[in-house]
Amino acid sequence: MLAPFKQATPLLDIIEAAGFEAYFVGGSVRDSLLAREISDVDIATSALPEELKAIFPHTADIGIQHGTILVIYNGEPYEITTFRTESGYSDYRRPDEVRFIRSLKEDLQRRDFTMNAIAMDKTGELIDPFNGKQAITMKQIITVGDPDERFGEDALRMMRAVRFVSQLSFTIEERTLAALSHMPHLLENIAVERKLTEFEKLLVGPSNNEAISILVQTGLFNYLPGLSGNGDCVSRMARCNLVGLAKAELWALLIHQIGLNDREANGFLREWKLPLKQIKQILKTLYWLRYRLNNEWTRISAYDAGKEFMVSAERLLQRLTKLKTSSEAELFKVFDQLPIKSRSELTLTGADLLSWFKEKPGPWVNHYLRLVEEKVLTGEVANVKADIREWLDNCNLKLEKD
Ligand code: ATP
Ligand code: MG
Repeated sequence: MLAPFKQATPLLDIIEAAGFEAYFVGGSVRDSLLAREISDVDIATSALPEELKAIFPHTADIGIQHGTILVIYNGEPYEITTFRTESGYSDYRRPDEVRFIRSLKEDLQRRDFTMNAIAMDKTGELIDPFNGKQAITMKQIITVGDPDERFGEDALRMMRAVRFVSQLSFTIEERTLAALSHMPHLLENIAVERKLTEFEKLLVGPSNNEAISILVQTGLFNYLPGLSGNGDCVSRMARCNLVGLAKAELWALLIHQIGLNDREANGFLREWKLPLKQIKQILKTLYWLRYRLNNEWTRISAYDAGKEFMVSAERLLQRLTKLKTSSEAELFKVFDQLPIKSRSELTLTGADLLSWFKEKPGPWVNHYLRLVEEKVLTGEVANVKADIREWLDNCNLKLEKD
């Protein structure tokens, strides 16, 4: 048994000693059968949340209405979920009723795909009533039960199916795939935040090309923010070589394929409800990609972009064009040879300018700093305070004091 399971086994012992059942379930069991690295293990139990709280002294309610409790054991957090069934999905996304139950089989039955509906006991024995292990061997994504029904209950499962294609390089079983094409519109009912989680996992997965093709082929893309009606652009994305691209690069590439301008790109990313920090990073990646599509790197643009964005822009350029691109080492060389790498390395400061020119602070300070920065970068002026002063005195600049 893998180390994370071994480490969590005492929890199963403790729950069983209190007279309840407990098993490892979900993604960690699936991933261990696939010999993929596993991080956190999920535990399912017949004990009710209140019963778990009576067993373990350190717990936190993280989703108690769904039956999930966080148990801190030996300083490590573990998510333990009470067996449950769900019923009555009148809004295609949330069960009207969650009922705690004592039967493992019923709990496994409410899970999305057969590969995710396998339980493992503390000895490593599998409880696999839906033949999940076989599906894993055949690398197939199959819903537990009727696919139309299961996607109708919770439409997010459709996105999950496609993201597992990307992550695991599995195929979607025929009937399950047909169901995706029947009801992509049900995705309309799903909150953007939940779509985003699955879409980002899909973007960065090793079989992302295949998964993006499936989004087009099934019509699911029409119900994702900003992609509706852009099937051709999304298809173009699916035909790009996406191997080894980072998340921000993939977003930037997608936006580029759709052909959005900067303002539209910002709106698109906000519609997806991405965090502002990530939006900034993606827009910057896009900016430098578009710069690079039309220009070579100069000392000034290398300085402005910085190493990280130079590498991203070059990598994307290589996927989009037949232009000769530079290796990471070549780009680093250009950057490392710059006379200054950031404004803090400039010997001139805003305070120097204020004292030399006896002017009130204003935008002119930044304007001058930028001017000097550029001259230092191109080598026209040395990064020596006296030289900079002399150059400024000689060039008779008109101050913009407003
Ligand atoms: P990951 O490795 O990305 O965490 P996972 O399969 O563990 O994949 P989670 O979202 O962590 O996915 O969910 C844990 C388990 O809960 C799943 O394996 C599945 O059994 C069940 N599950 C999650 N989401 C759904 C859903 N929308 N419908 C039915 N079952 C679900
Ligand atoms: Mg998980």
